[in-house]
Amino acid sequence: MEKVYLDSAATTQVRDEVIAKIQDCLVNCYGNPSSTHSFGRAAKTRVEQARKTIAKQLNAKPSEIIFTSGGTEADNMILRCAVRDLGIQKLITSKIEHHAVLHTAEEIAREYGLILQFVELDEEGSPRLDHLEALLKADDSKKLVSLMHVNNEIGNMIDIDAFAQVCKDHGAVFHSDTVQSVGHWEWDVQKTQIDFLTAAAHKFHGPKGVGFAYIRKDSGLRPFIFGGGQERGSRAGTESLHNIVGLEEAFTLAYEHLEEERKYVSELKSHFIKRLKEALPDVKFNGNSAVEGKSTYTLVNTCLPFSAEKAQLLLFQLDMKGIACSKGSACQSGSSAGSHVLREVLSEEDLQKPSLRFSFSMFNTKEELDYVVEVLKEYAHS
Ligand code: PMP
Repeated sequence: MEKVYLDSAATTQVRDEVIAKIQDCLVNCYGNPSSTHSFGRAAKTRVEQARKTIAKQLNAKPSEIIFTSGGTEADNMILRCAVRDLGIQKLITSKIEHHAVLHTAEEIAREYGLILQFVELDEEGSPRLDHLEALLKADDSKKLVSLMHVNNEIGNMIDIDAFAQVCKDHGAVFHSDTVQSVGHWEWDVQKTQIDFLTAAAHKFHGPKGVGFAYIRKDSGLRPFIFGGGQERGSRAGTESLHNIVGLEEAFTLAYEHLEEERKYVSELKSHFIKRLKEALPDVKFNGNSAVEGKSTYTLVNTCLPFSAEKAQLLLFQLDMKGIACSKGSACQSGSSAGSHVLREVLSEEDLQKPSLRFSFSMFNTKEELDYVVEVLKEYAHS
């Protein structure tokens, strides 16, 4: 087998249709969306069309969608602007957030002298709704809550409607980092009482370097980036038009094929879990990643029964065999410190073992997964 890509939670393969749209845009639509001539107007129409497509799917208004350079920028935009503009006195998040939220929240809390609180996790590693409620009830301070919908390392998914409702009931502003679920989950922002959500195209077979924030109308946020006033005054700078067009195409296809892809990828995941258990009976699965109905279908985080010496070489060995997956924190390249998420959810003993995250997409096949299991089995016995 030449190459097996099992790192779709880090980033996904771009669809051919998306590449075609991007190319067409670069070749044929090179006006600046702020110019008033025909080239500019054509470009502006494409940006607004993309905004409409996203808004319609989320049951939002086009004016509530702001394009960004990706998930990290969108998370920074929401946290920073909300604290600056909404009189926030306390920030509430969890220790298993992506660093785009965690480090941003820490930095903002320091800058503004705010209290930063963490929602406790349950035994499965998910934020506890009852503890959030207790934090919200504790006093009358104005609070911003930021909790991710689906965890990018261990797959745990929160009951987003319940969390949003508790925030609303207690007058708190609620943001969810939905970077792992937009494009893989049906969103309706009228049903889910969320104030802000954030997304990145490269997690659903779109291009890198583009994403968006949903900002509920009248939420009171002022601009994040100042300049020429693009993106409805929220984020100045010439829009990355070809990326926005690519995002729109990826987003449209993701929702057109949502059910069939969910079914296919769920089957891949179950197959992988079954085969891996047969090959390595002592394998464990981290967080909720292997629990049906409690995780999204896209990833599985395994704790492999290998010695420390073997663990050191494992990723390298897999790479030599053409297999791409990720270890520890997927988001701190070069770090040997391990994952901040796994440190929160694993026992000391399991932390010493190699944990690998395998994440799937519709481009994978069962044959590829069988090959990966064979390689792991060989490695275990070598
Ligand atoms: N949040 C989550 C949950 C993610 O998985 C990622 C990507 N690893 C990000 C935020 C950051 O997104 P981007 O890479 O587009 O900046």
